[in-house]
Amino acid sequence: MDRIKEFIALFQIPPAIAPYVTVFAEPDEIDLIVTMAGRTLSVVEVADLLKLPMYQAAAFLEKAYRRHFVHREVAGRKVGYIFDHVDTTDKPLRYIPARFYDRLDELTMYGDWDALPKEIRDEVTGWWLQEYADKIAPVVEKIKQDPDAHQKIKQKDFLLLDEAVAQVDAAAVHAVVNCDCRSSTQGCSRMVEACIRLDDGARYTLERGLGRQLSKDECKQIVLATDRDGLMHIDTRVWQDHGLFGFCNCCTCCCFPLRASTLLDSDRVYPRVHYQARRDETVCTHCGRCVRRCPYGAFYHDGSTILMNGKSRKAVAFDAAKCYGCGLCRTGCPIGCIAMHSLRGIPDDHP
Ligand code: SF4
Ligand code: SF4
Ligand code: SF4
Repeated sequence: MDRIKEFIALFQIPPAIAPYVTVFAEPDEIDLIVTMAGRTLSVVEVADLLKLPMYQAAAFLEKAYRRHFVHREVAGRKVGYIFDHVDTTDKPLRYIPARFYDRLDELTMYGDWDALPKEIRDEVTGWWLQEYADKIAPVVEKIKQDPDAHQKIKQKDFLLLDEAVAQVDAAAVHAVVNCDCRSSTQGCSRMVEACIRLDDGARYTLERGLGRQLSKDECKQIVLATDRDGLMHIDTRVWQDHGLFGFCNCCTCCCFPLRASTLLDSDRVYPRVHYQARRDETVCTHCGRCVRRCPYGAFYHDGSTILMNGKSRKAVAFDAAKCYGCGLCRTGCPIGCIAMHSLRGIPDDHP
C-alpha cells in the first residue's frame, strides 16, 4: 500500500475527501500518522522513529496537536477530547493518533476548508453530522428515558440571554472560538466567531491553539452581539454541579446539536426546551420584530390587519406550540411585552 493510501485508512478519511488529502495534511503529518500506525507514542519514540532531534520532534508533535492530528495522553488518560480536560503542565505526555473526524474542527474553523469544492464540503459536513449524531446517540437515548435528566446530566439546553450572561459572570477565564457548525455548513451569514468557552473550556481551547482569550467584559459584549444577530444560546444549565465549560450561540440552519435532534428523534429533549414565550397582547404594537427574530415561526403574520394609532399594520399572531423558549423574541421586543414562562419549575422571567 502506498503512503497516501495507508494514511487514508489509518486516519479514517471518508471517500469524498480522499482525493483532497493535500488540502488538509502536510507531507510530514501524513508521515507521522503512518509512522504511528495507531500506536500511542512518547516524544522520545516519535523522535526515534522519524529520526528527528528531540526538540524538533516535540515542536512537531505540538503543532500536530494544534492541527488535530494527534491527541494528548497523560498518565494513561486521553486529554484530547474537550470534556476530559486535565491540566497537562509539567506532566509527561504521550500522543495518540487522531482521526479525520477530529481534524475537521481546526480545518473548518481556521484551516483551508474553503479550498475544497462546495459539493465536497457539503458531503463531508453531512458525514460529520451523522458521525456526531452517532456519537451522542447513547447519551441522548438515556436522556429520553429519564424525565429528570435535565437536572442531572450535562446536556444541551436552550438558555435565556440572562442565563448565558450569568455563566460569563461566574467564569474566571474567557475565550471565544469560531463556530465549527457555521464554518463548515455555511448555511447563513451570522457571526462565526461566536462559541464562548469558559474556565476549563477556555483553558483547553487556548492550549489547543484555537480561538482567543477575552476579558469578562469583552466576552459579554460578544454574547450580546450574538443575541442581536439572532443566535440562540445553547449549553448545559447544570454548570454549578458540573463546572463551567462554555456555551454555543446557534442558528437552526447550521447547528449540529439542533440538526442532530432530527436524526435522533430528540426534538425539544436534546437540546432541551425549558421556556415558552408569552406576549402581553394588550400592549403589543404589532411592530413585527418578533416575527423577524423567531427562528421557529412561532410569531407570524396571520394575514389579518390591525389598526395601530390610526394606521393599518399586519397583525402578529403567536403559536405557542411552535415555541422553543430561546428568548430571542423577548430580547428583541422594543417595548418588553414578551415574558418567558417556565415549563418546569424554573422561576419565570418577567419583562
Ligand atoms: S453548537 Fe452552535 S455555536 Fe456551537 S459550534 Fe455548533 S452552531 Fe456553532
Ligand atoms: S416585538 Fe413585541 S411589540 Fe413587536 S409585535 Fe412582537 S410582541 Fe408585539
Ligand atoms: S417565540 Fe419561542 S422560539 Fe420564537 S423567538 Fe420567542 S422564545 Fe424563541
